[in-house]
Amino acid sequence: MKTITCGELVPGCTYKARAETEAELLQKVSEHVRTAHPGMEMTPKMVEKVKAKVHEE
Ligand SMILES: [Zn+2]
Repeated sequence: MKTITCGELVPGCTYKARAETEAELLQKVSEHVRTAHPGMEMTPKMVEKVKAKVHEE
């Protein structure tokens, strides 16, 4: 299981996501970013940052 805490990318955000695969997790994060952080874009650079914060559980 892969998990991510949005607060590691966006200080103060308490959103957490978990998924079976990294692709699924990135999709969940993208959706969250779109709705919760309108100023943030999932650029390739951002995706790299997100991937660096993914934890294995
Ligand atoms: Zn967030």
